[in-house]
Amino acid sequence: MKNILITGGTGYIGSHTCVELIESGYNPIIIDNLSNSKRKIVDRIEKITGKKIIFEKCDISDKKNIERIIKEFNCEAVIHFAGFKAVGESQTNPLMYYKNNVSGTINLLDAMKSAGLKKIVFSSSATVYGKPKFLPLTEDHPVSPENIYGKTKLAVENILRDIFIADPDWRICILRYFNPVGAHNSGLIGDDPKGIPNNLMPFISQVAVGRRSHLNIWGNDYNTNDGTGVRDYIHVIDLAQGHIKAIEKINSLKGAVINLGTGRGYSVLEMIQSFEKASAKKIKYEFRPRRDGDIEINYADPSKAKEIFNWEAKLDINEMCKDIWRWQSMNPKGV
Ligand code: NAD
Ligand code: UDP
Repeated sequence: MKNILITGGTGYIGSHTCVELIESGYNPIIIDNLSNSKRKIVDRIEKITGKKIIFEKCDISDKKNIERIIKEFNCEAVIHFAGFKAVGESQTNPLMYYKNNVSGTINLLDAMKSAGLKKIVFSSSATVYGKPKFLPLTEDHPVSPENIYGKTKLAVENILRDIFIADPDWRICILRYFNPVGAHNSGLIGDDPKGIPNNLMPFISQVAVGRRSHLNIWGNDYNTNDGTGVRDYIHVIDLAQGHIKAIEKINSLKGAVINLGTGRGYSVLEMIQSFEKASAKKIKYEFRPRRDGDIEINYADPSKAKEIFNWEAKLDINEMCKDIWRWQSMNPKGV
């Protein structure tokens, strides 16, 4: 049984990845400071998998503790999810974002080095591409993030590349996620944002459950089929399985950058329609001006993931919406 250290393992993507890891025969060792998740998620993962989880409340800046955990559990690789992800907050509080996402990662990498562990899978984001110059977005599309959150992701990518240049023993995989949505089909774990959701699908599901009166649609004058923004939504379970592939292949990955998306874009109105069908709820919405910094359309070219990982997304938007609704209706106020 291979032990894998999961930073941010009680968060949205981390928790789903832990479930998939266990189901693939791995043993996740979770560390999280619970700044954006709850301890209860560990119980939920245990309930889904029937397996006892090792969890330590720990900040990624705590180098000594991480070094100890890696050695104590003989971890064979790290999947690094921990970080802040709210674009708006990153614009108003850049230091908080550079400190947690960049300095935090440097501490983690330092702890790994001291413990003699040199294998890491990193959660990056399609945000690093910025405004698309061409579509679909391939991994060699130029990077030019338009917000500070994206800049912190790019900074970490660059640090990882430099580490590999200095010491080619490192094995590194950078995963650039498109728009993760959906939930585990048990309804026990899902996206559970604190406060007012920034992202589209948690907002829609909170409208459906009566927590919000209506959705504001940011812009209906884009150059898209119906005027609303288009994104590549990917089911979190497909995304989680992409991480299993990265772990399976880690010994051959020398700084590989890989998109995880479906290759198809859907508009805001199409997502609403699909969610209404899955939930049998009407979603009230109002059109508002464009959100600052939003791009019109983006979607991935996922062919590199297919080639290197033999991975492709399998679940469609109907599945995504059904699973979001099951999660939200079973947990109307979150966990
Ligand atoms: P999340 O907030 O649900 O999970 C992140 C977890 O990290 C949380 O449980 C939080 O408590 C923990 N954490 C934050 N700072 C920490 C620290 N200093 N020490 C220890 N734990 C800490 O977010 P998520 O949606 O699961 O995202 C996971 C990763 O994927 C993040 O790095 C995010 O930037 C990246 N990502 C997310 C998306 C998305 O849309 N959800 C898209 C692209 C990339
Ligand atoms: N969106 C919206 N209302 C919201 C949240 C999002 O209209 O309350 C739109 C947003 O303008 C974009 C799409 O939904 O076109 C996806 O936004 P999200 O924030 O989920 O992802 P990102 O913009 O980071 O890709």
